[in-house]
Amino acid sequence: MWVEREVFVMGTTLRIGVRAPSRAEGVGAIQEAFHAVRRADSLLSTWREDSEIARLNRAPVGRPVALPLELYRLLRDSERWSRETGGAFDPGIGALVDAWDLRGRGRIPSRIELAEARSRAGMARFAFADRSHSVTKRHEDAWIDTGAFGKGAALGAARTALRRRGIESAFLNFGGQVLALGAGRGAEWVVPVAHPARRDQPAMRIRLRDRSASTSSQSERYVEPEGRRLGHILDPRTGEPVPAWGSVTVVAEDPTLADILSTALLVLGPEAALVWARPHDDVGVLVLEELEGRVVARWNHGLSPFLVSDSTHNRGG
Ligand code: ADP
Ligand code: MG
Repeated sequence: MWVEREVFVMGTTLRIGVRAPSRAEGVGAIQEAFHAVRRADSLLSTWREDSEIARLNRAPVGRPVALPLELYRLLRDSERWSRETGGAFDPGIGALVDAWDLRGRGRIPSRIELAEARSRAGMARFAFADRSHSVTKRHEDAWIDTGAFGKGAALGAARTALRRRGIESAFLNFGGQVLALGAGRGAEWVVPVAHPARRDQPAMRIRLRDRSASTSSQSERYVEPEGRRLGHILDPRTGEPVPAWGSVTVVAEDPTLADILSTALLVLGPEAALVWARPHDDVGVLVLEELEGRVVARWNHGLSPFLVSDSTHNRGG
């Protein structure tokens, strides 16, 4: 039987549906998955004081902070992905988030302020010690923003919990990032990919099985200081918010990777994203660009198996 539950966590809604032999077993498995997500939040949330990452973020310069191994590994991986995306993805952007006041009402920093913030931002402001799994801040105002991979990591933890409970078929929707396990209620899970500017309108459809799909765009969350619209995704290489050019959807087996890459490829922009995606066909990449009111879709080879054919009215790239 199919069992579904919903919870509000990490600032958004997490809905989990599972196929289970009985209602009790389904509810039990979902509760376990919710528990795993709350635990991920207690490690990763930068919106609460008592998380492990908050403890690191407010630590004094030069003092090593020993972290739970799973958090240490996640930060290590994210640092590696920062290098592999040429710095397009970089959770060390905290000082830039402050400079633009992206968590408040938004503000436009002066050129000097921006230059200063850049000197305080980046994963290079943190030193990693693998043996003690500790991280040391190298600059007072540096902090790590887990926003671009926290939901993905939490979905990964939820998947582990569900599998431990013997769940083989499930569908998780975490504020727009989805994870499909096993076969769907019919055959496969079919999910819409939103129009990059009008998020309530589907532009394409993809089918998933044992995959996660994450979409990043600038149209969803923004602040508007001095009439200038600033999206929540920054280009760490320039320190500036990324323009609202469209959206990137990444399909990957690992939900953390899907989350990381959708943010990174949005930063790179449509052309560079597709150049990056071509040899990386172990992940599916769908780029939706809004040009003169029309949505132009392009994708890599890795996405082809997931495309629902009636939605492929545009050309692959
Ligand atoms: P959403 O949270 O809407 O799913 P993303 O996964 O793309 O969107 O994550 C965006 C969040 O990631 C921002 O709100 C911010 O916290 C953080 N962030 C912004 N720019 C970057 C970047 N270039 N690299 C890493 N993290 C970023
Ligand atoms: Mg992301």
